[in-house]
Amino acid sequence: MSRRNLTAVAYHEAGHAVLMAALGCRVRKITIRRYAKSAGRVHGESPLRRIRLEEIGRPPTRLHAEGAIMISLAGALAQKRVLPRSWRSWQSRGDYQKATILAHRFCPSVVETKAFLNWLEVRTQNRLDAHWRTVELIANTLLERKSLSGKEFDELIRPRRCLLFPNILQVDREHPTAHQ
Ligand SMILES: [Zn+2]
Repeated sequence: MSRRNLTAVAYHEAGHAVLMAALGCRVRKITIRRYAKSAGRVHGESPLRRIRLEEIGRPPTRLHAEGAIMISLAGALAQKRVLPRSWRSWQSRGDYQKATILAHRFCPSVVETKAFLNWLEVRTQNRLDAHWRTVELIANTLLERKSLSGKEFDELIRPRRCLLFPNILQVDREHPTAHQ
């Protein structure tokens, strides 16, 4: 895999991981590999982790599902932002399938599912813009080390956590497109 493609993978995984952190989910491990079928991976919590099976489909569950969908969409969006031409749909097919299956549970029609996903894509893009410096930090560290434990990830983002609400990441205000 070329250095350029590895950079795309690093930003893809950093996008997933930073969205997880921004939504209060723990990141346990991130890896990127130059020689492997699956080039990168993030292990961490899902916003749906506390939802019991019988609660799926209930309105409050939708909010958690929105978070899970945003985490899925964040990989491709982060990758596209840094290297637009590196993006290939197959690289994110699994992420998009997961997002679509979840979205469909809350939307009765295909048109509604698509509109819901489009809206969540805009929300995800805004969150990534707001935390872009953090995405860059994680992606660059991944390129150096190839793997980050949950502890190492926490240490890197600790200065960016809100003092009052440590579950929330502060917006990188110096970034011109930052908004939330
Ligand atoms: Zn992905």
